[in-house]
Amino acid sequence: MIPHLDLRQVNQPYAEALQAAACRVLSSGWFVLGHEVEAFETGFAAYCGVKHCIGVGNGLEAIHLIFKAMNFPEGSEIIVPANTYIATILPITALGLTPVWAEPDPRTYTLAAPQIEPLITEKTRAIVVVHLYGRCCDMAPIEELARKYNLKLIEDAAQAHGATYQNRKAGNLSDAAAFSFYPTKNLGALGDAGGVVTNDDELAHQVRLLRNYGSEQKYIHRIPGMNSRLDELQAAFLRVKLSHLDADNRRRQALAARYLAEIHHPSLQMPPADAIDQDVWHLFVVRHPQREAFMTYLRQKNIGTVIHYPVAPHQQDAYREYRYLDLPLTEQLHREVLSLPLNTVLTDAEADYIIETINESPY
Ligand SMILES: *Cc1c(COP(=O)(O)O)cnc(C)c1O
Repeated sequence: MIPHLDLRQVNQPYAEALQAAACRVLSSGWFVLGHEVEAFETGFAAYCGVKHCIGVGNGLEAIHLIFKAMNFPEGSEIIVPANTYIATILPITALGLTPVWAEPDPRTYTLAAPQIEPLITEKTRAIVVVHLYGRCCDMAPIEELARKYNLKLIEDAAQAHGATYQNRKAGNLSDAAAFSFYPTKNLGALGDAGGVVTNDDELAHQVRLLRNYGSEQKYIHRIPGMNSRLDELQAAFLRVKLSHLDADNRRRQALAARYLAEIHHPSLQMPPADAIDQDVWHLFVVRHPQREAFMTYLRQKNIGTVIHYPVAPHQQDAYREYRYLDLPLTEQLHREVLSLPLNTVLTDAEADYIIETINESPY
């Protein structure tokens, strides 16, 4: 079986360095907010080309902390992509803000300026872009809108570690960006972890306070914060993984380039091939009008695929109040997309087999 993703295999090449990192933390006797977190924060900020990185508990809380720090009045409207993982939107509703759902660009499936502008009202305060599947949104026109209407711009970069847009990295394309280091992500920890990156000194300071009970000085609380700290062990693992991120992303790009050049099937709609080396291919997402039959065929041929995602956020039970929305492209994508295996340990021979099997598919 060629699995869609096997996390044991993915971490195997770094096993020795990861074990050494764990031993280092164990023998330090220091487990929360110490040297490893600081070193990772410095390293990841430099990697993204921004001034600040604040390590936090996970990607969801990274988004939550950004919105909490921005402190928009209740009822403010936040423009979000309808085609995303639900974690993009949950912090917005949790804070009493109103998500305004935009359909995706029909070519890239990501949020784009033409779909955003008609949704802007007097109450709009921010736009959240999601660099979905590892491809940066077309930011220049979106930055233009943010300037024109005086809106904050926030990136959900949970799928885009190392992705670039006009020579700037994801995380450096907005007022503040949220990263997840969930184990399946391009930069994945061995447990939950996340980060906020920004060039804004004041915002960085607020997020730093908020993640640690509103405190900089032990037992002195300046604002009512929460506990969303990156721990030393995960930071130590992430330092190891960060040193391999570019090489890992290059491997993903090489596999994506092969799929794009060599998969030819009349029923399959492939992702756009215009940004192969800027995209970091967190997922390789194709569309098929008979998705179930195609996935079953691949499973019978021992190729594992996964659907990202089967149900759109506005159609989830958790968001019943938004079910009335009519977002036809988003809904169609959720019926048709599937993700082919593409990861750092997939071999050339496995890619050959996947390509050949798809090209021979009767569906
Ligand atoms: C993974 C992911 C998140 C959430 O990250 P967690 O660390 O699982 O909380 C948010 N947004 C997107 C687009 C994601 O892919």
